[in-house]
Amino acid sequence: MVKAIVGANWGDEGKGKITDLLAASSDVVVRFQGGANAGHTIINDYGRFALHILPSGIFYPHITNVIGNGVALDIAKLAKELADIMGQGVPQPNLIVSERAQLLMPYHVLQDGYEEERLGGKAFGSTKSGIAPFYSDKYAKTGIQVCDLFDENRLRERLHRALEVKNVLFEHLYHKPPMDEEALYQQLLTLREQIAPFVGDAVGFLHSAVTAGKTILLEGQLGSMKDPDLGIFPMTTSSHTLAGYGCVGAPVPPTAIEDVICVTKAYSSSVGSHTEPFVSEVTGEAGDELRRRGGDRGEFGATTGRPRRVGWFDAVATRYGCMVQGATQAALTCLDVLGYLDEIKVCTGYEIDGVETDVFPTTPRLMRAKPVFTTLPGWKCDIRGITEYSALPENARHYVEFLEEKIGVPIHIVSTGPSRHENCVR
Ligand code: GDP
Repeated sequence: MVKAIVGANWGDEGKGKITDLLAASSDVVVRFQGGANAGHTIINDYGRFALHILPSGIFYPHITNVIGNGVALDIAKLAKELADIMGQGVPQPNLIVSERAQLLMPYHVLQDGYEEERLGGKAFGSTKSGIAPFYSDKYAKTGIQVCDLFDENRLRERLHRALEVKNVLFEHLYHKPPMDEEALYQQLLTLREQIAPFVGDAVGFLHSAVTAGKTILLEGQLGSMKDPDLGIFPMTTSSHTLAGYGCVGAPVPPTAIEDVICVTKAYSSSVGSHTEPFVSEVTGEAGDELRRRGGDRGEFGATTGRPRRVGWFDAVATRYGCMVQGATQAALTCLDVLGYLDEIKVCTGYEIDGVETDVFPTTPRLMRAKPVFTTLPGWKCDIRGITEYSALPENARHYVEFLEEKIGVPIHIVSTGPSRHENCVR
């Protein structure tokens, strides 16, 4: 049985925590898209971790963790993350890196930075970890697969072909030094040694696991709004953030995904740049306070440290976000954060060109959308760590049920704190 845990919004919804929670009863956890450009925060008995590329099941000895072919694999970052967690006392995890995954190369990182520099003020606020150039190269068919590392003639040839194009760009578009082919080749051989023990046939492994009836968790990165097809293009990421992509990027058969758990936060946050549409944004003093109180240490990017933009819960975006994920249920995180508020607003509609709608629009119309809010009473107390839904204050339950009705998906998990056990399961 395959379950996907994915974001309904702009990322940072608290997927890491929910994955960590559900991983306990799973056999396999798979990363199927994205790279080390975002991070999950996981707090468990070993400590506090920001995972960027490793699947969230690595803390459990009974789980096989898979980095699927849909991932942008930065081997150096993977090796560092493994060394870091093991340095904090986590036992050597069971990990399979797909031989079909492609390598995020040093020139992708450089190109990302050069392109941001070239765009100047019109940049999209990339994390500069090479993700957009990586996926561009994959679809331009100049990428290098993990399996190529183990065929040296082929590796040399693939690298040569990639650099032919890359170095023209570097020298003539960006006016930067070209990459040295031989040095890069030697670097790849060193990186190969670091992942060799983990490389395997993830496709065969996952299909056998499905046939054997194992419980498999697909762990999404970012959220619906960042999907290049169904999100707020072009202020999106470059890989598909939707559960459906798990069928390609993990991969599992489409018919095997039985449960799609869409994670959404009790308020909104987005790490994107200030030019992005973020309709329900709260700015000024009130925004600063929400940002300070949000998450477990304030709303600052797990990978970048950037302050996140914050806002009220956006029911228009979240209903759409759950719809495109095919959500079977939702998990609502960070409810505890809102305990200080007298009143809580929920964005229940958008006004676009003078007309109110609850249908999430395409980007040009989204840029003109103004929020229509419904105000609900707060509960004015600390609910952190409550594990019985019935023990939540009435106004907190009312808030959850109001959101549930607006997004049209049952909220089965309500998270009341960052730690693994701080949840009410309804
Ligand atoms: P992810 O990328 O979706 O996993 O999200 P992040 O880890 O970047 O952001 C979620 C933040 O919220 C992290 O700091 C978590 O520790 C924290 N968090 C998750 N669930 C809760 C919760 O229910 N309450 C509080 N206060 N923090 C939470």
